Amino acid sequence: MTVHFPFQNTYTALPASFFARVVPTPVAAPRLIKLNRPLAVQLGLDPDLLDSPEGAEILAGKRVPEGADPIAMAYAGHQFGHFVPQLGDGRAILLGEVIDADGVRRDIQLKGSGPTPFSRRGDGRAALGPVLREYIVSEAMAALGIPTTRSLAAVITGENVMRETPLPGAVLTRVASSHIRVGTFQYFAARSDTEGVRRLADHVIARHYPHAADAERPYRALLEAVIARQADLVARWLLVGFIHGVMNTDNSSVAGETIDYGPCAFMDHYDPAKVFSSIDEQGRYAYANQPRIALWNLTRLAECLLPLLSDDKDKAIEEAQTILGEFAERFTSAYQTGLRRKIGLFTARDGDEALVQDLLDTMAKNHADFTLTFRRLSDAALDPDGDTEVRQLFADPSAHDEWAKRWRQRIIEEPQTPAERQAAMRTVNPAFIPRNHRVEAVIEAAVNRDDFTPFEELLAVLAKPYQDQPDFADYADPPEPHQCVLQTFCGT
Ligand code: AMP
Ligand code: MG
Repeated sequence: MTVHFPFQNTYTALPASFFARVVPTPVAAPRLIKLNRPLAVQLGLDPDLLDSPEGAEILAGKRVPEGADPIAMAYAGHQFGHFVPQLGDGRAILLGEVIDADGVRRDIQLKGSGPTPFSRRGDGRAALGPVLREYIVSEAMAALGIPTTRSLAAVITGENVMRETPLPGAVLTRVASSHIRVGTFQYFAARSDTEGVRRLADHVIARHYPHAADAERPYRALLEAVIARQADLVARWLLVGFIHGVMNTDNSSVAGETIDYGPCAFMDHYDPAKVFSSIDEQGRYAYANQPRIALWNLTRLAECLLPLLSDDKDKAIEEAQTILGEFAERFTSAYQTGLRRKIGLFTARDGDEALVQDLLDTMAKNHADFTLTFRRLSDAALDPDGDTEVRQLFADPSAHDEWAKRWRQRIIEEPQTPAERQAAMRTVNPAFIPRNHRVEAVIEAAVNRDDFTPFEELLAVLAKPYQDQPDFADYADPPEPHQCVLQTFCGT
């Protein structure tokens, strides 16, 4: 039996300027190290067939499955604020699209499968470490309920890639509801190819925002819809302490999924100015800057769409500004609603925003662990003795006491029982996040010792982030001082 991919490709029906046809470069000795079986089933693929030598060859790009129409997609992008008119898939190849069990069209893409016409000086390859990092963090995000690209498989190629030192090469199979980015629109806009922008916009409407097609002004509705999804997405990131690390416009999905896990990280202690990425020297993509950057990226998208909004340029600009103005309200509402839930409030009252902000300020001042503070607060909602557990997380435990008193006064104004409050809080305050020191330890074991047991264990824990898992309780712990990861790297 051969592996069957039920491809139904649409992107390749777009004009030739949208992509370059290219086949993956065969590799020496592919070995499947991880297959995401539930996701395979969701995509209509047979996991048993994929988990075979033939499957490994396909997932490593050594063999092109029937029905695939492999392409590298063209896109541009602002990287750290500087516009690059041509980036494109330099080390990723889209095999094709399938319709999943829920009727959603999903891209299946190999990342690290060899050079493409967009590779510039790069080798088109990926190292094992970054592949494992993307696998772990993207699947953790999915389990947390945050829109994201997914990881279907990871294979080792049997070849080394040259970085600062030779490293084992790997290929990640990435699944996305599409790989269309703000930078994809910029690619055509930068060439004054308004027809290209229009074709792309129509494709995105049909694929992601079909309701916009019925709107009075479809392109306006498209921009509004992308803004709404990005605003919600960034709010979700902040609510779990996620820092994307490289929010360039080419890493900003118009479908509103988290995409491109490079130097991303979850913060341990709460620090709004936190930056992990070694290349983000100015802190452009710091934790608390992410909403502002999302709006900046969406403004670049709006610029691309101007010719579609109106023939009158001034009118188009005015309209775009009005639509962009909706971002702040949408983001603030999603973020504040999420924060209220994190402290266990079922209703919104005057003073709630200040109450949460005071907690965050005290956490920042006292180096309190972001994830654990909210998780332990959930348990303190059931049992006031739990306050002891919370206050220990603060450098000065007494700094929490006055806030705890105010919080208790606020929650008793609501009719829910302590058990109901605790249960609700535990569905939004995870116990387990992919802590950097854990991810690093997994990568170290895999790369240096070919040991994937820690990888499997971490994945299993992160698959149920909202459940207490007493056997794995230490995965919830913040790093010891000597385990702290200070910097993360793109690893490209
Ligand atoms: P990223 O930083 O992963 O978002 O990538 C930015 C751009 O660099 C994209 O156009 C990538 O395709 C390209 N790129 C990154 N790594 C490589 C590589 N090893 N070989 C070729 N192109 C790459
Ligand atoms: Mg990218």
